[in-house]
Amino acid sequence: MLNPSPVSAPASMKETAASFTVVLINPYELGRQPFALAQTAAWLKGDGFRVVCLDLSLQKLDPSALAGAGLVALYVGMHTATRIALEALPRVRELAPAAHLCCYGLYAPMNRDLLRERGVGTVLGGEYEPALLRLAQGLRQGEQPAAQTEPVISLAKVGFLTPDRSGLPDLARYARLLLPGGDEKVVGFAEGSRGCKHLCRHCPVVPVYQGRFRVVPAEVVLEDIAQQVARGAEHISFGDPDFLNGPSHALRLVRQLHARFPRITYDATIKIEHLLARADLLPELKATGCLFVTSAAESLDDTILAHLDKGHARADFERALGLCRQAGIPLAPTFVPFTPWTTLDGYLDLLRGLAELDLVESVPPIQLTIRLLIPQGSWLLRLPGFRELLQGFDRKLLGYPWHHPDPRVDRLQEALQSWLAEAEGRGAARRPMFEAMWEMAHQAAGRPLPPLPGQGHGQPMPRLSEPWYCCAEPTGEQLQSF
Ligand code: SF4
Repeated sequence: MLNPSPVSAPASMKETAASFTVVLINPYELGRQPFALAQTAAWLKGDGFRVVCLDLSLQKLDPSALAGAGLVALYVGMHTATRIALEALPRVRELAPAAHLCCYGLYAPMNRDLLRERGVGTVLGGEYEPALLRLAQGLRQGEQPAAQTEPVISLAKVGFLTPDRSGLPDLARYARLLLPGGDEKVVGFAEGSRGCKHLCRHCPVVPVYQGRFRVVPAEVVLEDIAQQVARGAEHISFGDPDFLNGPSHALRLVRQLHARFPRITYDATIKIEHLLARADLLPELKATGCLFVTSAAESLDDTILAHLDKGHARADFERALGLCRQAGIPLAPTFVPFTPWTTLDGYLDLLRGLAELDLVESVPPIQLTIRLLIPQGSWLLRLPGFRELLQGFDRKLLGYPWHHPDPRVDRLQEALQSWLAEAEGRGAARRPMFEAMWEMAHQAAGRPLPPLPGQGHGQPMPRLSEPWYCCAEPTGEQLQSF
């Protein structure tokens, strides 16, 4: 079913709508200027609503912005954002006592009970724009829904509009592209699709989209890119869960992007399976300005990869890396190294593998400390025997905590995480950090310390100033924005 683009209200109603304020809040989105606020703002403004956007990654929860709001909608597209939203809700309620509260985005449905307990009246996931607009229209007409009438998850196709980014902070204040020579570029953020056609068990996209994805029409994506280029973007970071879910769509996008803006570079996230299946596209990605590709490799251990149902094995990862290098596209793999199945020897094998493959400079050290997060609704809970490894749901963590059967694995993860926080604070470079982690891991395993294998361990590559990972503990600074 296609939910068409929003139907505009008659002029008289728009006058009323203009006096009805909707506040859209982004708690955090990896330092990106959020598409989800800009798209929703376009739908609401198109119907005459007064819309205020607040990005808590760069702005404070402004009392004057919230005063008199009829609807406050918080975008929870990732785990960290949801944790910040939960902390912010009491203050939002205090500043906008009459407003209906809504949470929308990928993490809203899986945390619906907790959000409702905290006073959230409407929870929306998937393709949420039509439901959010209908909610605002109903509130404007004086409806006070006693219970949610909109579906919590809708996957009906929506008619995307050109996002309205006018109410968001300048692009130059968001994450920047860092080039190996020391230059920096302003980054714009675009989405060519939402959802994913794959079913990796640990992935938060899966409980909501269940193997489906939705494309944003090429003309909308291009207009969004054009408006960001006009505001200074020199590089575009595509936020699609997987850029090659629809290869023809992706190709259309990058061809048109390159034809219109030949100096603009871009990056995208592509799974290993797709890099192998569509290796024929890599030269064209390179030719159209692809500066690097991020890929959720997750592990170099085939047993763990099978548990996660990643659809690739270690040999596939190595092959995909070779193909990207052949095409001249640096690959930035991401990992979930600490799982209930990780052993100390397995962790050493991961570090050894990265050094041998000359990937030391390509992996942000934080990636080597990440612990598997199991949110409510995770498809990992369907894995026979897995639930028995977990403790009860933790409402602060927003996940099921687990302890490794070998306590040395948990101790190493905690030690690496706290050491890294301090080392990053000192601005240490990737290679010395990797060497220190190599040493700590050998100590934890009680093994003698060998020299790092590999040739040169790789060259620094282009990267965003905010590393890619979605399950971080909110920082004190993030919690001070309200
Ligand atoms: S390919 Fe990526 S986005 Fe898709 S289900 Fe797997 S981890 Fe999630």
